[in-house]
Amino acid sequence: MKVAVVLFTRDLRVHDHPALAASVRAAEHVVPLFVHDPSLPAGSNRRTFLDGCLSDLASSLRQRGGDLVTLRGDPVDCALRVAKQVGAAGIAMSADVSGFARARSQRLAAACAAEGVAFREFPGVTIAEPGSLRPGGGGSHYKVFTPYYRAWQASSLREVHGAPRRISLPEDMPKSWFATGDPDAVSGESAARERLSSWLTHLESYGDHHDDLAADRTSRLSPYLHFGCLSPRELVARVDGHAGAEPFVRQLCWRDFYHQVLSAFPDLRRRPYRPGAEDSWRDEPDALEAWKAGHTGVPIVDAGMRQMLQEGWMHNRARLITASYLTKHLYLDWRAGGDHFYDLLLDGDVANNYGNWQWVAGTGNDTKPYRRFNPLRQAERFDPTGDYVRRYVPELADIPGKAIHEPWKQPASTRRGYPSPLALDAK
Ligand code: FAD
Repeated sequence: MKVAVVLFTRDLRVHDHPALAASVRAAEHVVPLFVHDPSLPAGSNRRTFLDGCLSDLASSLRQRGGDLVTLRGDPVDCALRVAKQVGAAGIAMSADVSGFARARSQRLAAACAAEGVAFREFPGVTIAEPGSLRPGGGGSHYKVFTPYYRAWQASSLREVHGAPRRISLPEDMPKSWFATGDPDAVSGESAARERLSSWLTHLESYGDHHDDLAADRTSRLSPYLHFGCLSPRELVARVDGHAGAEPFVRQLCWRDFYHQVLSAFPDLRRRPYRPGAEDSWRDEPDALEAWKAGHTGVPIVDAGMRQMLQEGWMHNRARLITASYLTKHLYLDWRAGGDHFYDLLLDGDVANNYGNWQWVAGTGNDTKPYRRFNPLRQAERFDPTGDYVRRYVPELADIPGKAIHEPWKQPASTRRGYPSPLALDAK
């Protein structure tokens, strides 16, 4: 093949990119393309992060002789327009599972067929392809994590691809197609690889510390995984054989698990996954706003919500506590909570976000849908010194030790206007 187009979406990297690797092998010239789709909702945190990822990708491609064509519009129209203009015989991209992504690739496949351009999708977004592992008895996907994890561990994984050494663009490409922008130190593949290398020293203690809120010892790789700055398949290869890898790889498998759930159940964002699940909720806008703002009066909940407001990221244990508080203490709709998370999180992702929300709300894949986290017990267990709360709820910072978790037991002067709890279990 003389020319191929690679359409990037949320696979913004050059390492272990099967569609890019195959195109570089098959074609003399490769045109890497990214299309900003104005119809795609993305929180503003993610938009800024995305810009950094694209600048970094463009820079990596330039180092290899290529560049990144960046356009705005409908991705199908843009990809076809570019393919025609450069005389490409084929378009390649990574397969993805959301309803949005699937509709996009179906339209692109149809448009390519009509124009006589070859279209091919490749793996790369998950470790195991959604739908590749199926339970016995003819089910379309695994509904429960543990059997999925067993099947996943026993499956063989695809090879890991290196980054292409050289990428050659066709001559005479319009200069206006190439965006300029400086890579930043936070987003993109280079930052992701640095973060991974420095974090690997914590891998050994991941199993013991990943729930310790104040220690903040999880990888914080989720935004990079969301945008595909890191290949999850390569990540497994990088940690393979290291002490402590198993509990970490298990978390990566949760990501695959929810992707195969979303692939089989595209309504995950709006409809209860579990047939017959209780799905009626109170309508209390003031309580919802207090939760969003981190003013529920329950310090561990407010600390998590404020961490997300400040950083666009929240610790997993705090996500569990805050989501459980919304749905099982305030009895508010998991969709409202999920949408708020989705707006703010840098890693906000349909499969992981709504899959986890449904798990917590008891409408999803949890085998114990009645489970309810008691925020005080969670606080004592996972923030025993109160330092996590102290970091994000400064008005309580003077309350020493774990007493910070029950400010209502303190004199009003030390609470500095902090509200009373909206709702709470007896301990
Ligand atoms: P680590 O502990 O270092 O784990 C490594 C990777 O494994 C993560 O980056 C992530 O890709 C994956 N992972 C870990 N835990 C989970 C999990 N429970 N489900 C799926 N994948 C997991 N994760 C998202 O990526 N996007 C979301 O929108 C999202 N929303 C969530 C909403 C709720 C209510 C809950 C309870 C969890 C949500 N998670 C989401 C899962 C998890 O909280 C984050 O992936 C994790 O906190 C990211 O931090 P980390 O990279 O340091 O994780």
